[in-house]
Amino acid sequence: MAGPASRRHAIVIGAGLAGSSAAERLAARGWTIELIDHADGPGQGASGNLAGVLRPLPSLDDNRLARLTRAGFEHARRHFDALTAAAQPLRWGQTGVLHLARDETHATTQQRVVAARHPANDELRFVERDQARELAAWPVATGGWWFPGGGWVDPASLCRANLAHHAAAIRPHYRCQVARIDRQAGLWRACNAAGEVIAEAPVLILANATAARNFPVAAHLPLRAARGQVSHLPGEAGSAPQIVVCRLGYVTPAIDGVRCAGATFGIDDGEPAPRESDHLENLAKLDFILPGYASKLRALDLAGRVGFRPLSPDRLPMIGAVADAAAIDANAPSRPLAEMPRLPGLYVINGFGARGIVWSALAGELLACLITEAPLPLTDDLVHAVDPGRFLLRGRNKRVRDRASPPVGG
Ligand SMILES: Cc1cc2nc3c(=O)[nH]c(=O)nc-3n(C[C@H](O)[C@H](O)[C@H](O)COP(=O)(O)OP(=O)(O)OC[C@H]3O[C@@H](n4cnc5c(N)ncnc54)[C@H](O)[C@@H]3O)c2cc1C
Repeated sequence: MAGPASRRHAIVIGAGLAGSSAAERLAARGWTIELIDHADGPGQGASGNLAGVLRPLPSLDDNRLARLTRAGFEHARRHFDALTAAAQPLRWGQTGVLHLARDETHATTQQRVVAARHPANDELRFVERDQARELAAWPVATGGWWFPGGGWVDPASLCRANLAHHAAAIRPHYRCQVARIDRQAGLWRACNAAGEVIAEAPVLILANATAARNFPVAAHLPLRAARGQVSHLPGEAGSAPQIVVCRLGYVTPAIDGVRCAGATFGIDDGEPAPRESDHLENLAKLDFILPGYASKLRALDLAGRVGFRPLSPDRLPMIGAVADAAAIDANAPSRPLAEMPRLPGLYVINGFGARGIVWSALAGELLACLITEAPLPLTDDLVHAVDPGRFLLRGRNKRVRDRASPPVGG
């Protein structure tokens, strides 16, 4: 069991992008963290792909998802710079991301977004097909958005770098499965299946993806798993493309001789092993991105990896204090989010869906600010938009339709 409880002491369950980001941000503020994961190291769940994509995704109406993703993108780059400056083992390549238009209509929308948003040239611009071909060094079919500051990220290396940044303050408990959590005498306890206490602390953070729902106090969180399979393609160093290219999917540059192409998106599909049919789907996407690239590849020969994205119904993450669902009287007049009863010391950072690489650094910072009551890094409307209590607001479930359509890219 961990050492004596102090006020600035937290348990984090889950050592993926969510848990490692929260741990890093609290440890930076002088907190001691008990980090628990049933895997034998960080970044082995959804956060264990070889590489994923870092880029914002603007929208014409600059909606909440677009604003959160832009803020996350900017925050992530600053965080990556800080980790790199501190010689932490983050692996990422700021190669730029070319997000090709799906068709002519989409190209027009992309151009309208750029015209409406007036982004700085080094943030985003629209490139015509010829320039897209030059950037990709491939005869791509259309023009599209060019994000010069985007790139690929090895997410497990980001988890490791987060933890190494404050190694002295973060106590890892790997190969430990939390079967039960409870609160006694002001302390949360994480226990294994034998009932033994793995750690106890006044604050507990659920960063264990969809498994958070297994704990009765968090069973009301509407988390679902979206299975995603990435295909690993052989790729010689220096071969084209040397940037990330997206078009209803993505392909990365060759990293250590492997290009990642993907990804599939299947709700509530629990198959953990890669499937040939999913490789075929990824090869079809690859051909849409880079015409002809897939012609010499056979699905049968490909390796790959499967991960399960923790997804929320409105596609926004869940960051903040867990509501006390049992204390909400269904017959009482509706109360605003700020007045929703919360479970003392219990927080969640979850529901990153297909955007964990882009959101995690900002999410960790927001959670640390909420816990320590520091000024928040986001505007109130975005803080409310990601509040995990939002799902218990009366009438909301009727309003939010469960959109199960695949996201663009990851
Ligand atoms: C195929 C695929 C492609 C993607 N591409 C991109 C992309 O291009 N760009 C992007 O931004 N994002 C991408 N993502 C999304 C991103 O990877 C996820 O949003 C992110 O990894 C989720 O992180 P997490 O920490 O919430 O979950 P996880 O990484 O799954 O971490 C949860 C951890 O909790 C642990 N755990 C669970 N239950 C328990 C328990 N009871 N006790 C102890 N430990 C427990 C697990 O072992 C696991 O390590 C992609 C995801 C997938 C699957």
